[in-house]
Amino acid sequence: MKFTPLFSALLSLTAALMLSAVPVSGAQLKALIIDGRNNHDWRSTTPHLKKVLEETGLFQVDVATAPAKDGDMNSFRPKFSDYSVVISNYNGEPWSAETKSALVNHIRGGGGFVSIHAANNSFPEWKEYNEMIGVGGWGDRTEKWGPRLYWEEKLVRDSSPGRGGSHGDQHVFQMITRSPEHPIMKGLPSVWMHAKDELYDRLRGPAENLTVLATAYSDQITRGTGKHEPLLFSIAYGKGRVFHTALGHNNGADITSQRCIGFITTLQRGAEWAATGKVTQKVPENFPTADAVSSR
Ligand code: ZN
Repeated sequence: MKFTPLFSALLSLTAALMLSAVPVSGAQLKALIIDGRNNHDWRSTTPHLKKVLEETGLFQVDVATAPAKDGDMNSFRPKFSDYSVVISNYNGEPWSAETKSALVNHIRGGGGFVSIHAANNSFPEWKEYNEMIGVGGWGDRTEKWGPRLYWEEKLVRDSSPGRGGSHGDQHVFQMITRSPEHPIMKGLPSVWMHAKDELYDRLRGPAENLTVLATAYSDQITRGTGKHEPLLFSIAYGKGRVFHTALGHNNGADITSQRCIGFITTLQRGAEWAATGKVTQKVPENFPTADAVSSR
């Protein structure tokens, strides 16, 4: 069969149009970091978080910054539903009812959420937020918020009265994997040394549909609790998935804890899992060992 030049041209045009309609291979997941308020310097951490997420090649990351102290919080209306995963670097004033329900509906409907360090201090009075993050600290949280968790051969839910949230001196500490078959943890060493950080303790909350991924021993020598404190979690929330890392303190521009390859790797994997329910990333060769910190 012989094509006329016009017909050939039409064929090529059709082929080109068909190709352009096919998603580019390796299409990226959209991720949104929320910041703007925090008792930690979020201006130092958000660019780092954005960079480590983008370097996986999996994410295209936007940032939504809430208005500063004298700004109008009602104007803060990120379009959460545009994103596969929302990452909170936010600890501050409550949002409008509309913004809160937009987040709840999006995660409940199958979206991903990631809570980093003091993001779990936020919103003590927001019931659904506490359900999403599983446990939190400070903000006058007490036993009324739910049990305080610790690990003693298995997860213990301690409902006795007391405050929720505290930490001892910042120090280097070992992380112990408790759910080695979870996609976020699979292939990671069972014990690894985390860079200098705050070791949150006595976190409290509803802790429903929650899996403890890793703990760290909170030594009384560093003014800790003498308990194994859960610090990495996954939570099922409706059809959605939440990855909660209590790690990642920063002292102003000093973001030592977030430069830890263990922090970075678990964040990258946790964000992918929250977005898709799977983890396709390899564990980096420079992952920390049981007795040596590895940072960059
Ligand atoms: Zn901190």
